[in-house]
Amino acid sequence: MDRSRSKELYDRAAGLMPGGVSSPVRAFSPYPTYIKRGRGSRLYDADGNELIDCCLGFGPLILGHAHPSVVKAVQEQAGDGTLYGAPVEKEILLAETVRRHFPAMEMMRFVSSGTEATMHAVRLARGVTGRKKIVKMEGGFHGAHDSVLVKAGSGATTHSSPDSAGVPEETASNTLTLAYNDIEAAERLLSAHRGEIAAVLVEPVMGNIGPVLPDGGYLQQLRELTRKHGVLLMFDEVITGFRLSMGGAQARFGVQADITTLGKVLGGGLPIGAFGASAEIMRNVSPLGKVYQAGTFSGNPLSMAAGLAALNELERVGHEGLERKGEMVRSQLAEVINAHGLDHQVAGIGSMFQMFMTDRPVRNHRDVMTCDASRFMRLFHALLERGVYVPPSQFETCFLSTAHTDEDVRRIVDAYDDALEAIR
Ligand SMILES: *Cc1c(COP(=O)(O)O)cnc(C)c1O
Repeated sequence: MDRSRSKELYDRAAGLMPGGVSSPVRAFSPYPTYIKRGRGSRLYDADGNELIDCCLGFGPLILGHAHPSVVKAVQEQAGDGTLYGAPVEKEILLAETVRRHFPAMEMMRFVSSGTEATMHAVRLARGVTGRKKIVKMEGGFHGAHDSVLVKAGSGATTHSSPDSAGVPEETASNTLTLAYNDIEAAERLLSAHRGEIAAVLVEPVMGNIGPVLPDGGYLQQLRELTRKHGVLLMFDEVITGFRLSMGGAQARFGVQADITTLGKVLGGGLPIGAFGASAEIMRNVSPLGKVYQAGTFSGNPLSMAAGLAALNELERVGHEGLERKGEMVRSQLAEVINAHGLDHQVAGIGSMFQMFMTDRPVRNHRDVMTCDASRFMRLFHALLERGVYVPPSQFETCFLSTAHTDEDVRRIVDAYDDALEAIR
C-alpha cells in the first residue's frame, strides 16, 4: 500500500503539532494516516487508498460518513449562519429528543465536547453535594481535564500517561479510583469515605480500554450502593448514548443515573456534549443556581442541526441492523481466533467490538493490561495494509455503523484472518 503522501504530510505536520496530530489517539508509529474524505463505511486517505472504517471518528459516526440527511441539515443551517450568541429552537428540539430517550435527563445543557460535559457534570456534583471527592474506575476515560486524568484510559493509557503531568496533586488527591466490576471494593471505598464523595463516575460499558461489559447486576448494585451512601451516580454515556440503544446503557440495562453525560453520536459527527439530570439537580446550574458553566459554541445551531438529523435517522432505521452486524463480527472473529489456535479474546456489545490479545477474560482494567499491546500494533498495521482502519490502539473500541454492509463485515473478518496469519 502506497502511504507516501501521508508520510509527506506527517513530515510537515510534525513540526507544527505534537505528533503531527490534533489529538494523541490519532498518532501511531511511524506516521498516521491522513484522510481526504469519508463516505458511508469508507475512508479515503491522502494517497487514495480506500479503507473500511471501524474507527468512525472514535465512535460518533453511527450512520457512517457524510450521511445524506446529516449533510443536508448541515448545509441548510450553514446557509442561515452558524452562531448567534442567542438560543435557537433546534436546541429545544434536540433536548426534547434526548429527554424522550433518557428520562433521567429532565433538564440538560449542551456543550461542545464530551470533555466539557464531564467537567461541568463533576463541578455540578460537587456544587450540589458540597463534597470534594469523586470516584472513577481504573481505565475509565471521561475526557481530558484535571479531575479525571487519574488512571485514565484511551490515549492516556496508550501513550503511557494515565496520570498526566501537570495535574496538581491537590486535584488528583480528590479523585479516588476503583476496579470496575468489583462491587465489594466500591462498598469498602464508599464506607471509608462516608460524607466525602460527591459522585461515582462510570462508563456503564467501559469503552476506552476497549469494550468491557458490566457483570450481571453490577450496575444495579452500584445504583443501590450510591443511593444508600447519598452519593450521586454519574453515567458517562458519551460512547454508549444512542449507540447501545436510543436510550443508551440506561435503557439497555434498566438502570438510571443521577447525572448523565452524552457526546459523540449525539452530534451527528459535529462537536457536541451534553450533561443532564433531574430538574432538582439541574436547577443548581447558572443562571438558576450557583454552579457556573458557559460556552461560546454551546448549543450552536450547526451541531444541533446535525444531531437532530442523525438522531431522527437513527430512530427511523433502528438498532437491529447494528446489533446483528455486531454479533456477526464478534462471532466470526471468535471463529478466526479458534482456527488460528490463538487464545485472544473477542469482546463487545451491540456495534462495539475489540480483539484483546490476552488469554484472560476481560472484566476490568487489570485484565486489559495483560494484553500484548505491541502485538496489537502489528495487527493494526497488517489490517491497514489490507484496507481496514481500526483505532490504532489495543485500548480503544472498534465500531460499526448503519452504513456497514454484511459484505463489509465479511471483508473485515477476512482482513483479520489474513492479518493474523501475516503477524504469526
Ligand atoms: C470520548 C469520550 C469523552 C470525551 O469526549 P470529547 O468529545 O473527546 O471531549 C468522555 N467520555 C467518554 C466515555 C468518551 O468516550
